[in-house]
Amino acid sequence: MKCLITGGAGFIGSHLADKLTGAGNHVVALDNLSTGRYENIAHLSGNGNFKIVVGSVLDEKIVDKLVDEADVVFHLAAAVGVDLIVKRPLESMTTNIKGSETVLEAAYRYHKKILIASTSEIYGKNVNGPLKEEDDRILGSPLKSRWSYSTAKAIDEILAYIYCKEKGLPTIIVRLFNTVGPRQTGAYGMVIPRFVAQALENKDITVFGDGNQSRCFLHVGDVVNALSKLMDAPAAVGEVFNIGSQEEISIKGLAERIIEMTGAKSKIIYIPYDKAYERGFEDMQRRIPDTTKINKLIGFKPTIGLEGIIKDVISYFSKPNK
Ligand code: UDP
Repeated sequence: MKCLITGGAGFIGSHLADKLTGAGNHVVALDNLSTGRYENIAHLSGNGNFKIVVGSVLDEKIVDKLVDEADVVFHLAAAVGVDLIVKRPLESMTTNIKGSETVLEAAYRYHKKILIASTSEIYGKNVNGPLKEEDDRILGSPLKSRWSYSTAKAIDEILAYIYCKEKGLPTIIVRLFNTVGPRQTGAYGMVIPRFVAQALENKDITVFGDGNQSRCFLHVGDVVNALSKLMDAPAAVGEVFNIGSQEEISIKGLAERIIEMTGAKSKIIYIPYDKAYERGFEDMQRRIPDTTKINKLIGFKPTIGLEGIIKDVISYFSKPNK
């Protein structure tokens, strides 16, 4: 199969490129190398089944050509990371709304099956137990970057969903919960690469808020396995799926675990959200996915627990030049 991955040099996109080329598919990665990095896919450069096209999902001509040439599309290109979205809101919104619309329109033009990456941010402040796909969204003001990001992603979902319902375009929506692993950078706010990098340098570990907020982290390898299986599952079309782990840990607990596993001399410092992000910033206290739906369809189950994830990130950051 010829697969187009938008955001193919990004953290998740590059792992998906590894997975798909490894299975004998031809992969074209479209990436503007803004948050994606050439180093993520450099090892694929000699692979005849892989090609990188440096360009933007906002470029209608490039998108048109690449979608036409592909059999299926994985649309992962997006502005990601709470920190990036807070600091560059206009660019984030444009990429996430217009970019997705451009890719979806091209998929419709050539009738290509497309998987769209959405996010657990969709649920907003809904902290009720494991979140099911049909659960309510609870959002703050659209003038706060976090909620405008959530809304932009909801627009992507709506477009993908109605292209399917109204026009018969085969679309699949996935909501990715916290995803971690090698090649993820802490530069855009993600907590595990930040804590590991801090610990390896014996620097203070920066816990935002009181550290009682919790998350569940899934290894990127489990995520890309799920993405490729969903693309192959006819019953996934027209549906939305949570993808995430249910192994919950508080952020304070995470900091302690990382200090323990790295043997760092770091101490934990607590930084108020207002200082860490922006005035009035609202965090999610808790976020756990209900993964019954994806489990039923493709037998999804995480294979790497938090311990293995942290070990993998430590070994990634222990390599030179990371
Ligand atoms: N966080 C933190 N210190 C950091 C970066 C993040 O305490 O240096 C917290 C952040 O406030 C949030 C959690 O870790 O409560 C997860 O943050 P991340 O940005 O990785 O993911 P998300 O907020 O999207 O779940």
